[in-house]
Amino acid sequence: MKTEPSFRESVDIMFNRAVALMDLSPGLEQKIRVCNSTYTVRFGVRLRGKIETFTGYRSVHSEHMEPVKGGIRYATGVNQDEVEALAALMTYKCALVQTPFGGSKGGLCIDPREWNAHEMEQITRRFAYELIKRDLISPSQNVPAPDMGTGEREMAWITDQYRRMNTTDINASACVTGKPINAGGIQGRVEATGRGVQYALEEFFRYEEDKAKANLTGTLDGKRVIVQGLGNVGYHAAKFLSEEDGCKITAVIERDGAVVNPDGLAIEFLKEHIILTGGVKGFAGGEYVEDGAAVLEQECDILIPAAMEGVINLNNAKNIKTKLIVEAANGPVTAGADEILRKKGIVIIPDMYANAGGVTVSYFEWVKNLSHIRFGRMQRRQEESRHRLILEELERLSQDPAISWELSDGFKQKYLKGAGELELVRSGLDDTMRASYQAMREVWHNNPKVDDLRTAAYLVSIGRVAASYRSKGL
Ligand code: GLU
Repeated sequence: MKTEPSFRESVDIMFNRAVALMDLSPGLEQKIRVCNSTYTVRFGVRLRGKIETFTGYRSVHSEHMEPVKGGIRYATGVNQDEVEALAALMTYKCALVQTPFGGSKGGLCIDPREWNAHEMEQITRRFAYELIKRDLISPSQNVPAPDMGTGEREMAWITDQYRRMNTTDINASACVTGKPINAGGIQGRVEATGRGVQYALEEFFRYEEDKAKANLTGTLDGKRVIVQGLGNVGYHAAKFLSEEDGCKITAVIERDGAVVNPDGLAIEFLKEHIILTGGVKGFAGGEYVEDGAAVLEQECDILIPAAMEGVINLNNAKNIKTKLIVEAANGPVTAGADEILRKKGIVIIPDMYANAGGVTVSYFEWVKNLSHIRFGRMQRRQEESRHRLILEELERLSQDPAISWELSDGFKQKYLKGAGELELVRSGLDDTMRASYQAMREVWHNNPKVDDLRTAAYLVSIGRVAASYRSKGL
């Protein structure tokens, strides 16, 4: 095994690479890079007749904009280095997709599978209590969201805990995003990160020059895709790409191995199988391979690591045979691997852009909570009645015997339908993914010193963070 820098060092190396191409005032570079603060808490919860002690973190990387934003992760491997790396990525991610937030991240060292729902609630409420009383969860200061190991359920408990401690805060539900709909959530948040991966790829495929850099041609239709990790992000990305864009998911790698099918896996069935059995083994729609790591190295057009950081590293980078990597996870490619892959001509769509769909829709949810109104509530029916006016006029005209045309089947219904919350969320997300990609590719193609999308992404986002510091007089 070759030694690699830690996750945080890896993020710093990539940051430094980009910053070397910029002309920042002395000291500003360091101010942006460092993590402002990390709060560590050890708290006890009485469970199964004894006190269990848990360790949790909340890092605030940059407060150039507030609130700061970033998920809370539940996993046994959580540590300060990881949480700080993830918080830094949140800063750059939010700047890149222009959500008005600084970067933060939280984590709790826990294996959520070891505890039942009631116990998880007690633990989550206690952790939330510790963070709320220090303004590390607050609608105006720090707004967490789901991450690995957490979801709507945990967010609902956190909101409720915040409400109990801030009974008169009218904006209480904006203290966290990724909540269930009935607790102030927004349509399309659960699918958002996977949906964002799909929109990112669709945008990449709109540019011949960009595809050429990855030795790809044509459309997404028929492209062979390998997905690592069929959790929330990987599942939605694989589902949308296969069902809507015609991609063939030729392999899915999970904890217990991989399942391979050159004709494409049926993602919906595979997900059901994983939920039922806990793994991919025994899935009838593909061939089971125990050595998942080997499948990561199989030939394909697009590789989507959607699980953990550091899965493509100094040990396997040289064996990776894809043309394009889309970083659906945070930090799946180490700094060392990134260099090897770049030299091999593999194009990487970087994490801070590829998985930004989650925080983008979190932003919409936060705005919805602060405005106390569902998107589309005011205009939907008005939009429909204006559409109806046009349709009625068209129908009247088509009755004229001198004109021989009629509206095609289904057009009327489709045209009439005003946009509801889900349609608006998807449209806002698509717009964000397109605009952010365009900002990145502009640098990628026009700055002769930049030869990869990650450096381009850093240049765009660091430039924005720096501008924000400058306007504060720093
Ligand atoms: N945990 C997600 C991420 O890494 C979402 C963060 C958020 O919505 O605040 O981007």
